[in-house]
Amino acid sequence: MKTNLSLIRYALVALILILASCAIAVAQEAAKEAEHSLPAAPSGFDERFLDRSADPCVNFFQYACGNFSKFYPIPSDRSGFGTFTIVYERNEAVLHELLEKAAAGGATRSANQQKIGDYYSACMDTSAIEQDGLRPLQPDLDRIADLKDKSELTPLLAHFQLINVNAFLGMGEQQDFKDASKQIADVDQGGLGLPERDYYFRKGETDEKIRQEYVQHIVNTLKLIGEPETEARTDAQNIFQLETALAKVSMDVTSRRDPKNIYHLMPVSDLQKLTPSLDWSKILSDAQFPPITEINVVNPDFFKGLNTLLDKTDLNTIKAYLRWQLVASTDSIVLPKALDDEAFAFNKRTLSGQPDQQARWKRCAQATDTALGEALGQVYAEQEFPPSSKAATLQMVHDIESAMDQDLSSLDWMSAETKVRAQAKLRAVADKIGYPDHWRDYSKLMVARDDAFGNLHRAVIFESLREIAKIGKPVDRGEWGMTPPTVNAYYNPSMNDINFPAGILQPPFYSPKSTDAENYGHIGAIVGHELTHGFDDQGRLFDANGNLSNWWTPEDGKKFEEKAECTVKEYDKFVPVDDVHVNGKLTLGENTADNGGLRLAFIAFLADAKRKGIDLTQKQDGFTLIQQFFLGFGQNWCGETRPEQLRLQVQTDEHSPREFRVNGVVQNMREMGDAFGCKKGQPMMPDNVCRVW
Ligand SMILES: [Zn+2]
Repeated sequence: MKTNLSLIRYALVALILILASCAIAVAQEAAKEAEHSLPAAPSGFDERFLDRSADPCVNFFQYACGNFSKFYPIPSDRSGFGTFTIVYERNEAVLHELLEKAAAGGATRSANQQKIGDYYSACMDTSAIEQDGLRPLQPDLDRIADLKDKSELTPLLAHFQLINVNAFLGMGEQQDFKDASKQIADVDQGGLGLPERDYYFRKGETDEKIRQEYVQHIVNTLKLIGEPETEARTDAQNIFQLETALAKVSMDVTSRRDPKNIYHLMPVSDLQKLTPSLDWSKILSDAQFPPITEINVVNPDFFKGLNTLLDKTDLNTIKAYLRWQLVASTDSIVLPKALDDEAFAFNKRTLSGQPDQQARWKRCAQATDTALGEALGQVYAEQEFPPSSKAATLQMVHDIESAMDQDLSSLDWMSAETKVRAQAKLRAVADKIGYPDHWRDYSKLMVARDDAFGNLHRAVIFESLREIAKIGKPVDRGEWGMTPPTVNAYYNPSMNDINFPAGILQPPFYSPKSTDAENYGHIGAIVGHELTHGFDDQGRLFDANGNLSNWWTPEDGKKFEEKAECTVKEYDKFVPVDDVHVNGKLTLGENTADNGGLRLAFIAFLADAKRKGIDLTQKQDGFTLIQQFFLGFGQNWCGETRPEQLRLQVQTDEHSPREFRVNGVVQNMREMGDAFGCKKGQPMMPDNVCRVW
């Protein structure tokens, strides 16, 4: 089961991030600090991080963030460290306290505390995990060993879907792109062990080396589940060849950004024709899907190709591939140490350059959030997110929405006709702040204090069945795609909603101690970012109700594309590591959101100052308020990333590396150049400026 196919757009890489409210001071933070005795994150923009030897007109990122890593070098258990990591680590420590308390037990624990406490506790119990060894994997390894014929694959693949092993494919549910009121089933390409299809084909020494190390990683893993060296070596070669063939018929990440490319709703009988070697009605019913007649076949070419592959691949190779996929898809934290270490060595050290494994408590806190996010989130939100925070955040969001309304009215390139529809879409955006109104019910999920593997296994099936149960039912518009402690934010075009989990409402992004200028630059830019996603190259294809339907006049659509092309070319030129360029098309949506987001925050900031009669050219602590605004924005992205992680990010992630999230944006905003006295023609004030929104 893959996670649901939606076009959710995050503010950052899946892990880390931001947001919060604005100019209105909320005094919850001082209380929070006292309660936890955790180190306070810096508020507002931090002068310590400035590199005053750099020229802000030549490299604004360097000026705003050049000294950051002197204070926050990348620790050995991370692949990068930035402003977001500060917030993330603080949050991690809060979850740690909360989980330790819940794990301590006692009769007064609530039902949620029992579940999260016991889940965490079992995860921390390495001696029990070690003692269990491979025993928990054995039933599935036996099922693979017992396969006598390819026709017996069907029930096994269905079972694998329920336990999150996406061998060959991934099944799930999604909102229908063309009718957002419907939940439909979908089936997608799957079954690759490397991060993305191009990893199997890209030329060059580094990529060649990653492939060699990947094959060795498969060998090591197979040996650890009991295969003799020679057999493991042969199997690993065959598995790699099979995955390469799957990759050949898979769609790359950039093509997958276009919703038209990943939407092919068809009768199940047509899917049966694409892949006759599999019995689809049986897979669907074995995987406990409700009776359906239609399904979104995300990539039909893949399923045609899959059929050929299934026919020509021998059963032994398929069995080896299934063994490998089973182990590789299981979170190694519940497996014996040797397997866990092996997974770390390739997935983190090789691919991300992270030297050391993280402390176990950090990983178990994360695992508990993945399994029981809304149980953990409920306890977290009660403790960390008072109603005043929700109110303050909402105020900021409304402020930025007004700025967008104003921005839309003033656009000189868009016709009145399209403007009306854009404004209607803007007004229909649902603002979701902090945590869901209705919590997920985990009462039927059994969590045992002494069974880490079983807990994971049951939680994964529980979640798969929850997803599948949505098919054919009305859409729950109150549902969240992130857990409350998450330090991130997102926009979902099918829901037409922006979501800011409680976990991101923290200094330095938002602080009542900061100036308005700093808060608008920090958090305002993030709120603007999420809102702009509704109108980026992908979001603009969906209407106010979340349906894929063209509400643009042909001329306006063409003008949008021309403007977007300028952004594509601008970011294509950036080279973050070795000779690897940023992919302007892959990152177009995020770059559009970064650019639009800062402009919206700036408009809102000016409007707020006007209301309050504040002179923005006045200096405080050596900087005008306008300079503080831009420095606040720049410092959202302070930090460093290891070169391996940078490479991985550029090749798979829709977000540009941190340096370009700053310089790529401010060079399009004359107001920044003016504020710092830059001259036309300097790098941060180029002659050619891109602007969509
Ligand atoms: Zn984003």
